Amino acid sequence: MQYGLLTESSQSLLYYRGRVALFHLLKSLGVGPNDEVATQAFTCSAVPEGILASGARPLFIDTKAKQVNMDPGDLEQKITSATKAIVVQHTFGIPAEIVPIARFASIRGIPLIEDCCHVLSSQYNGKAVGTFGLAAFYSHEWGKPLPCGLGGSVQISSSELVANLLREYKKLGYPPWDKELRQQIQYMVFSGLYRPFFFWPLRKAFRFFSRIGVAEGNYNELDEDTEVSPEFTMRMSPRAARRLARKQTTLDQIARHSTRIADLYESHLKEGSFHPVEKPGNSTTVYSRFPIWCDDKKQALAFAESNNLELAEWYATPIHPLKGNRLQNINYTLGSCPNAELACRRILSLPTHRKTSLRQARKIATSLLQFS
Ligand SMILES: *Cc1c(COP(=O)(O)O)cnc(C)c1O
Repeated sequence: MQYGLLTESSQSLLYYRGRVALFHLLKSLGVGPNDEVATQAFTCSAVPEGILASGARPLFIDTKAKQVNMDPGDLEQKITSATKAIVVQHTFGIPAEIVPIARFASIRGIPLIEDCCHVLSSQYNGKAVGTFGLAAFYSHEWGKPLPCGLGGSVQISSSELVANLLREYKKLGYPPWDKELRQQIQYMVFSGLYRPFFFWPLRKAFRFFSRIGVAEGNYNELDEDTEVSPEFTMRMSPRAARRLARKQTTLDQIARHSTRIADLYESHLKEGSFHPVEKPGNSTTVYSRFPIWCDDKKQALAFAESNNLELAEWYATPIHPLKGNRLQNINYTLGSCPNAELACRRILSLPTHRKTSLRQARKIATSLLQFS
């Protein structure tokens, strides 16, 4: 099985963004003020944003050494009686140690949600990632494997959750026309222009337009007294939903393409000083991007920019892109997740999306080898 149908149905609901989907999942579980939600460091601020909107606070769990996903041992150590949900992220499409985590969650009676924002069709023990918890949520924004503009979706495995979710879902509105128009323009610009060789200029333009408030950015301010954004009461726009339904029919093609590109990176980069990230045994990964460890991330990024190679730096901070006091404000203490912090200093990722041609992928890999 891949993911279920992404058209709206009682098992699959469509929201304004992935973080909005997470927020509604937490609410349907009764998570609220004074509760804690366990989630990994080496993530982006969208995840704590969804948690904070519910009134709960995030509890950050470290990643496994040399890997990019939650360490089950650190989870066992850190959870408390206030932990009311566990959110497991499958970073870059690499499956987390989901079986031990699901077992632990079930023994402790804590609901498990899978963050599948990077997942197309990865498997663990031959079972589709996204089907181990009560529910999984996805994001369909520009940088994700199945983009449709802005959007999030939920795949529900537990029938108990469905009723609660539907009750709230019926009350949600659609994005207002100006938001929708902006989103559509952004989507068209993005899908028209985005190629790996256009990565750096596009990234600069996007940052500029987000800063001046013209483009819809990915990172909202997350300070303690910020009010919950009205976006949390919105569902996916009908246009984005139709696009998603169409895109979904090409999911197998996208997955096959990603696998070919990742195989190419793997075979080329064997010799250099870049190492692929370790994966759990007994898993099949369909990458949303291909992560590599490098000794000097800054230098590698500068090299990539000057040679016009698509190389992404996320996550640059444990809760990207937050730093300093901003991390403190969302309950992250520097030093509390040393593996994740190291990963932020070392991990870069190469494109595997459908706009990456084999030729470009080869060029990226061979240039990196020369650099190393
Ligand atoms: C993108 C992303 C999200 C949230 O997605 P939005 O649609 O931007 O709200 C959540 N988790 C992870 C790991 C993501 O990469």
